[in-house]
Amino acid sequence: MTTDEIRNLIAGTRAPARSGEWLEKLRPADGALLCRLARSGAEDVDAAVAAARAAQPAWAERTPVERGDVLRNQAQLLRERRDEAAEIVVAETGKPLELALGEADAAVEMGLFVAGEGRRSYGRTTTASMKHRTVLTVRQPLGVAGLITSFNTPLPNIAWKAFPAVFCGNAAIVKPSEEVPASALFFAELALEAGVPAGVLNVVQGRGAEAGVALVEHEDVDLVSFTGSAATGRWINETAGRRLAKVCLELGGKNALVVCDDADLPNAIRWTLASAFSNAGQRCAAASRIVVFDAVYETFREQLVAGARTLEPEPVISEAALERMLGAVAGAAAGGATVLAGGKRSDGAGFKLAPTIVEGASANDEISRTELFGPVTLLYRVSSLDDAIALVNDSPYGLTASVHTASLHRAMCFAERVQAGVVVVNGGTHGSEPHMGFGGVKDSGTGWREAGIEALDVYSDWKVVNLIADPALA
Ligand code: NAD
Repeated sequence: MTTDEIRNLIAGTRAPARSGEWLEKLRPADGALLCRLARSGAEDVDAAVAAARAAQPAWAERTPVERGDVLRNQAQLLRERRDEAAEIVVAETGKPLELALGEADAAVEMGLFVAGEGRRSYGRTTTASMKHRTVLTVRQPLGVAGLITSFNTPLPNIAWKAFPAVFCGNAAIVKPSEEVPASALFFAELALEAGVPAGVLNVVQGRGAEAGVALVEHEDVDLVSFTGSAATGRWINETAGRRLAKVCLELGGKNALVVCDDADLPNAIRWTLASAFSNAGQRCAAASRIVVFDAVYETFREQLVAGARTLEPEPVISEAALERMLGAVAGAAAGGATVLAGGKRSDGAGFKLAPTIVEGASANDEISRTELFGPVTLLYRVSSLDDAIALVNDSPYGLTASVHTASLHRAMCFAERVQAGVVVVNGGTHGSEPHMGFGGVKDSGTGWREAGIEALDVYSDWKVVNLIADPALA
């Protein structure tokens, strides 16, 4: 595929924006122009929604087994072309190839998991008060789904939504992040090649404020599934909620990792470095608050700073994102916090920030409450598990949390009381897999879970079927 002009995919055909306008996408690794993408607007969204509406009924007529088989084909094609997919992701995001390959594999696994649901998508049978009445539940598609995604792990972000949405018999329009247009087009073209009918999975490229808004506001979109920031999610919930569309939100986090005085320190350091700095901290589940018991604080801090200094700075997605992170760190320093590592733009081309550790910010400071979505983590000191849990819960967000301890009692107490959708003991703040429902509480989401069979609940409605038999007619 050519990566110099990334178009929309509507009804199986690549098309530029109707306005003929393009946006520029820069390569994070060196700041050079990577490609142009269609700058779509309401007319393009209209065309994609019409294509989806037209294609959906025939797709929904196919059995779940058939739909699963087609998606299995797509997952297998993606596996065969994982190198090509990963190269696109590396160019668009600047992340290491190994990480991009792992993400391609994760998207494949999501496809295979969902495909298996074709033969396993169980409903329920239940009792009834009336004799000879049999009651069962079946899944129904919703119709047309708008899928809006973030840039951080481009292939899994789309796979987590598109596979279950399409499997459930919907047609969909993906509005990928304007930072990762080519990987989205690659994914949707593989779907076509695998046998997903034209119009069932469409892509509309462009800005959130233009193409994204048009998709959210479109009267003929039955469901909006969004992965991105809490601020945008709040607006989407209000806007699509007004017409009573279903809205699934997977939002940000300010995830905490707690290190108790009985923790295995080398293990805690290893997981902290991975959770805070892998993918340049651009993970919704990144550990951006590290809460350490007094007794081990000095040792932990010394080893963490030493570990962070050994890491190669990786690019963040854009110049604007880098400026925002540098501004937040400078603001914290001006307010009295100390920058122990990083905090500066790395030399050379590209949008690179060295792994950054800040200590001495209070729980109420802006940097403690704002998700930076970059390689910046904060250190806090506590004297007890109660204090640690109180600090962890003193956040607008509640996506993931981790505790490092040798005590089963402390681990269970933390798991019970922490406000988060995912809890990890003695590991990182991330680690989801395709069969595990993922999502958060408070400003991290609205209760839906992506991945796992829970994802099918997002993209389908339950219908209760009552069958009443008359034995006299038997
Ligand atoms: P963002 O909110 O800026 O953008 C996300 C997507 O929404 C993009 O496609 C963007 O173009 C679009 N968009 C922006 N404004 C819009 C609007 N008004 N209407 C419709 N669409 C709009 O977020 P981002 O910077 O791309 O991603 C970072 C955020 O995503 C972080 O908060 C991160 O935690 C979150 N995230 C969450 C998860 C999760 O599963 N919970 C996973 C990955 C990322």
